[in-house]
Amino acid sequence: MILTVTMNPSVDISYPISDFKLDDVNRVEGVRKTAGGKGLNVARVIKQMGEGVVTTGVLGGTIGDYIIQELSKDRIENDFLKINQESRNCIAILHDSKQTEILESGPTLTAEDEAAFLTKYESLLTNVSLVTISGSLPKGLPSDFYRQMVERGHERGIPVVVDTSGESLRQILISEVKPFAIKPNITELSQLLGINVEPNIESLRQALTNEWFQGIEWIVVSMGGAGAFVKHGQNFYQVTIPKINVINPVGSGDATVAGFAVAVKHEQSVKVVLKTAMTTGILNAMEAVTGYINTANFEDIFNQVQVEKIDL
Ligand code: ADP
Repeated sequence: MILTVTMNPSVDISYPISDFKLDDVNRVEGVRKTAGGKGLNVARVIKQMGEGVVTTGVLGGTIGDYIIQELSKDRIENDFLKINQESRNCIAILHDSKQTEILESGPTLTAEDEAAFLTKYESLLTNVSLVTISGSLPKGLPSDFYRQMVERGHERGIPVVVDTSGESLRQILISEVKPFAIKPNITELSQLLGINVEPNIESLRQALTNEWFQGIEWIVVSMGGAGAFVKHGQNFYQVTIPKINVINPVGSGDATVAGFAVAVKHEQSVKVVLKTAMTTGILNAMEAVTGYINTANFEDIFNQVQVEKIDL
């Protein structure tokens, strides 16, 4: 069983309004409301791959109830900490071929919420063999919260994959106990290091030799349509992917984390782990729905992904 974590999930509302008018009334049909959050996307893709998954995090109110209802419809096992504040809505207005987003920040967690979640997390750890943590932290939690979660996994010998950015990523990298894997994209990597990492082997290799990355088993730098650059142990790999008809790449990073987690759980070879991770990312980009992959195309795409070890 794999555990996926989303600390600040949302209901994602999309309003298609072809001629959006500012300072006026806009009426909308064809509204879509989905349970949103990076760890929920990871859980959906793991489920579609036929693997056991349970998803957790923090939610509350009627918006929280809606999220649970949507997950239950997809038969995704869930065990969230319920708090007495409303979870957030995130609104995307689709207009004039553009997307204007209005993102609520969500609840501010208390010290009691923090302790209660860690207790829940520890009890969930007794039943899982791998954890993925995705996305940003809600207000009220310390920026080293993911570090605490990584440490608790480490104490039990459970690998923890972290897909986050900014200060919470920095906090887990400066810690003595390292996560099993991280999956920054190239923008997140550049922000983290405060330099402009170029999408070429020399620049990426240089960036990943930073001492912050020592002791992390897998660093997967995803690069959208350009595939990925990877450090595994002391080895570097370049992963190239086929050209596809991109429909909607939102959530491809989450789908990549899902494929990675499933392959690692099955103790696959380096090559198969990376090919699986890229394939699920690509399959997500080929669909309109975020966090959905058509598994019928898996083998075809998998066979077109190439992993090349870089000689130093
Ligand atoms: P994130 O969503 O975290 O920024 P990426 O955009 O790098 O992550 O996407 C993760 C993976 O999904 C890529 O490494 C690739 O395998 C696949 N992917 C994303 N965008 C595309 C695209 N335009 N064409 C093909 N594959 C894509």
